[in-house]
Amino acid sequence: MKFQTKLLIDGKLVEGEGTALSILDPATGKTVANVAEASNAQVDAAVKSAADAFETFSRTTPAERSAFLLQIANVFEMNSRELAGMESIDVGKPWPSAHDDEMPLTIDTFRFFAGAARTMTSAAAGEYIAGHTSMLRRDPVGPVAAITPWNYPLMMFSWKLAAAIAAGCTVVLKPSEITPLATLKVGELLADVLPKGVLNIIHGTGATIGDRLINSPEMEAIAVTGSPATGMAAMRAASNQIRHVHLELGGKAPVIVFNDADIDTLAQTIRAGSYFNAGQDCAQPCRLLVQDGIYDKVVAAVASEVAGIKVGAQKAEGTQMGPVVSAVQRDRVAGFVDRARLNAEIVTGGNRIDGDGFFYEPTVVANVNHDAEIACNEVFGPVVTISRFSEAEDALKVANAGRYGLASSVWTKDIGLAMSMTSELRYGFTWVNTHGAATAEMPWAAMKGSGTGCDMSIHALDAYTSVRHVMFAHA
Ligand code: NAD
Repeated sequence: MKFQTKLLIDGKLVEGEGTALSILDPATGKTVANVAEASNAQVDAAVKSAADAFETFSRTTPAERSAFLLQIANVFEMNSRELAGMESIDVGKPWPSAHDDEMPLTIDTFRFFAGAARTMTSAAAGEYIAGHTSMLRRDPVGPVAAITPWNYPLMMFSWKLAAAIAAGCTVVLKPSEITPLATLKVGELLADVLPKGVLNIIHGTGATIGDRLINSPEMEAIAVTGSPATGMAAMRAASNQIRHVHLELGGKAPVIVFNDADIDTLAQTIRAGSYFNAGQDCAQPCRLLVQDGIYDKVVAAVASEVAGIKVGAQKAEGTQMGPVVSAVQRDRVAGFVDRARLNAEIVTGGNRIDGDGFFYEPTVVANVNHDAEIACNEVFGPVVTISRFSEAEDALKVANAGRYGLASSVWTKDIGLAMSMTSELRYGFTWVNTHGAATAEMPWAAMKGSGTGCDMSIHALDAYTSVRHVMFAHA
């Protein structure tokens, strides 16, 4: 496959002027492309381009921005097979999952925000002080520095770009340095669709190029999807200049399973959801808390489902789970499991898979203490832990003690119990008797250590707009 390796700066496709980084296929460990990083001067040029373009793009009408978003959706749709193919090679995602499972939401996000762009109407104007009329405005916050991670490069691109464009912002976006290929291709496809400077795409490591981008004085907002460490770097950068920050960070989703839960549906959901994208998912159902009465049955059912997952290369016949993204990530996952096996039971998996690629067995670890390292930290790999609880309030306490606050789920047929649990869980989103389905109308919302605000839904527009007050004196 031929890859597009140029950056998009000020409407032009240009080779990076910095160091070339080699991009690997995680299934083989071999280099598939070399992409040169942006130089500092290129980062600055991208930033200036976004700042210049903001002057005019921020004045476009919602209908005009909506039309751009619909065009972007069409470009994705027309090129979906090629884009998903690149994503599959770059991240190690099974084909056709990269196309069939991820592309629909990526495309629909642009279509949703094409509509959302036109919902930004304000409360009625009024006379709150006699002789003066006040009105509210909601204006684009400014040029946005957007940073995306390696697990869902294109979907995260859509979550960041669509809301920003709907709001009237311009963007400089940096994909992860290890998975830039599909995003760079999108840069080529959109170069003639969007006005010059509305979207700039640069490439490079977080500590160098990302750092320069988020610290650029012209960037009025920083939007990051990534690890907590990167979120902290963004907050530090924002604090130096007082900037808006929007963070979607890690997760450690508790799955709270009561005695009356449907065990088969649960086990199938874990099989499908916890090992999707090799478990590299911020909402991964990874921390099962199971009530005493069905604990043993749940462990057996989950282990049996997970043992049947077929691991393989992206296009190998029947592949259900691919490799993890890099050797570093596999070492990290293996480290968590190796430390956990001293005090817990590996009921299936628990090993690296021999060969050149970065494969790791789908793994279930049972009898895990609530305060164990593997129960409390984000593993971000094909690993699920199972722990036991007796009373609802104990499960709630354990779940809410976590530092993260992104996804969670509750499994019970008792509506009242589900209602009270969902009202008390301190997580941005909670599923009941399912886990993982996402739709553009609903927020992907973060609490606590998982970030600030949300992606998707009309609420995502809050990160990219500022509320303003304008007052007219009558005389
Ligand atoms: P990461 O934080 O290592 O990298 C994410 C991006 O940040 C990359 O583009 C990287 O180059 C950049 N970056 C790193 N340091 C930086 C710095 N100092 N300044 C500026 N940019 C910097 O994360 P990752 O390993 O690519 O992705 C995995 C993480 O992302 C996990 O924690 C996962 O939970 C999280 N994630 C969250 C969501 C969500 O919606 N909440 C979605 C996907 C992934």
